[in-house]
Amino acid sequence: MIANRWTETGASHWQEAAGADARARELALRVYSSRLIGQDPDLVMHGGGNTSLKATAPDMFGEELRVLHVKGSGWDLDTIEAKGLPAVRLDPLMQLRALPALSDEAMVNVQRLNLLDAGAPNPSVETLLHAWIPHRYVDHTHATAFLVLANLPEVAAVTRELFGDRLTLVPYVMPGFALARAAADAFDRNPAAEGLLLINHGHFAWGPDAKSSYDRIVAHTNLVEAWLADRRPAPLVPAAALPAADPASADLAPVLAGLRGALASCLPEAAALPVLDLRDGPSARAFVARDDLEDLALRGVATPDHVIRTKGEVLVLRRNAQTPEGMRAAVADFADRYRGYFAAHVASASGPKSMLAPMPGLVWLEGAGVLGVGASAAAARIAADIGLQSARVRADGEAAGGFRPIGPADLFDMEYWSLEQAKLGKGKPPALQGRVVLVTGGAGAIGLATARAFAAEGASLFLVDRQGEALDAAVAALGRDHGGHGCDITAPGSPAAAVAACVRRFGGLDILISNAGAAVTGEIATLPDRALRDSFELNFFAHVGFAQAAVAIFRAQAQGRGARGAEPGQILFNVSKQAVNPGRGFAAYGLPKATTFFLLRQLALELGPEGIRVNGINADRIRSGLLTPGMIAARSSARGVDEATYMAGNLLQAEVEARHVADAFVMLAKAERTTAHVMTVDGGNIEAALR
Ligand SMILES: [Zn+2]
Repeated sequence: MIANRWTETGASHWQEAAGADARARELALRVYSSRLIGQDPDLVMHGGGNTSLKATAPDMFGEELRVLHVKGSGWDLDTIEAKGLPAVRLDPLMQLRALPALSDEAMVNVQRLNLLDAGAPNPSVETLLHAWIPHRYVDHTHATAFLVLANLPEVAAVTRELFGDRLTLVPYVMPGFALARAAADAFDRNPAAEGLLLINHGHFAWGPDAKSSYDRIVAHTNLVEAWLADRRPAPLVPAAALPAADPASADLAPVLAGLRGALASCLPEAAALPVLDLRDGPSARAFVARDDLEDLALRGVATPDHVIRTKGEVLVLRRNAQTPEGMRAAVADFADRYRGYFAAHVASASGPKSMLAPMPGLVWLEGAGVLGVGASAAAARIAADIGLQSARVRADGEAAGGFRPIGPADLFDMEYWSLEQAKLGKGKPPALQGRVVLVTGGAGAIGLATARAFAAEGASLFLVDRQGEALDAAVAALGRDHGGHGCDITAPGSPAAAVAACVRRFGGLDILISNAGAAVTGEIATLPDRALRDSFELNFFAHVGFAQAAVAIFRAQAQGRGARGAEPGQILFNVSKQAVNPGRGFAAYGLPKATTFFLLRQLALELGPEGIRVNGINADRIRSGLLTPGMIAARSSARGVDEATYMAGNLLQAEVEARHVADAFVMLAKAERTTAHVMTVDGGNIEAALR
């Protein structure tokens, strides 16, 4: 059931923040209830739905104009602000109703021309529909319950049974001028109604004030939800009987990595592999255990604008198809069907169209869950969110009479509609978009700086470090489309488990940055055996463990992919100046680091034929866990210099910071024909120079 989240405290908070101006206070309530709708994923999600307010505003001569505040494109309801509801002159919009037709371009143009603020975002494509409903507050959702109702074969009878005359049906028409006309005509036939049900699309409700319109959205949705709950069967597979979902389970990692590789066949030769987002909660796993998945996968989307996020069809991978060959064949079959769909509908489309990548946006992975696929972690997340909702819509729909959404011709019009594609944004993606990068020691100074540098290039980061607040804070600082895993990387099996957790989060791995390390001091002649062995565990064997686990994933991805295409993966080590230039008392650190330096060369030698590159950084004198403020104070006073002079004790006479190391890692990651190379980042030190 949808909770009615309206509170008088919340409403007055928004009004007070708006100040004394009556118009601003009215708009503040519009923002408030828009957010209440936006914050419930069972009402709207990811740019779906829109809201409006009819009000007045003064022009520059002080004359009162009638205006429509309507959601601007690019805004999401859950975070909308007043400037996300730009004002459009209402009278010119009303005059448009006399026209028999209006092209999308002309509609967008006239809406822009009538904005009060020339710099405002484009008003929603459903602006005219809002304008022509003569109520003050109008709300539109793609609520889960309404998507079930809107796609039932008996939608008219059920709607009448539930709502009588309170909801008016509008037959399916693609959004734009024609839908606005159809909706306004439907409204005129029954002006006493409380809302509209747009068949195959969603729900509208309205009211004289923000609260009454919002109350209707919630009440109508819950009426449908209660009706559906009565028809929902007990789960086919009880949640308790489902196999447990282990967040680090190793057996799923090769399947996901192989699938990620197989999906590359849908993309241009050198493109980054897609990012995957697996949802494996009990309801998702129960859904992918259904025996009618193959049928449901071909039906289409629950509401038209989902098609740009998920494609119309879903890729189904039964357990017996979850092999490299099986997944390659299933992906090829999906792409062939997509090319067929494009060819069948492009001829009747308005204007030339170029085919999008024939890659699924959703995969139903039997035994595992619902998987979103996207060019970035954000795109995969959005696809997965929509995928979970649409799985529920399909399951509830089938239980309540059938899931019968729009067919392929209407789907094509929506998928290749220029106004819809505009939602996905334009411009060149960042250089490392879609690359999955795992950083060990990711919460430390160099690790986090490196993670930030890769994130700034569009990569998806997975931080591995000791469990605790520092790791949580580092992952939170990167944002929700990144991940992390806490463990002791020297524990047996730990590197493989950490890499499996990364694969579970993003579907694979492209770049391993094996960075974690710590210094142990003491003269070699008297060093306790345990200290040296412990240092080898962290500063050498953990590097070996992560490299081996990463290579296994690179190979699974390459196997899924079949032929050699884009780079199959790379490894970057944080070596150390100690590997080539020993410092007194640093044997326990330098010995394993020298071995790691050799490991880098050995891996580069053996993995080169597969296209896997292996490089590293020799850094020195960076403020970090290895060089603490106490150590800096002690060493600078021992040398009789101040701390700044000590830190700048190099050829360039400038302190080297963690961000300089981070930038060097990014440079190596982009250096396509470089392997077995160590780059020095120390401000210049002739004694430690490699070449
Ligand atoms: Zn809509």
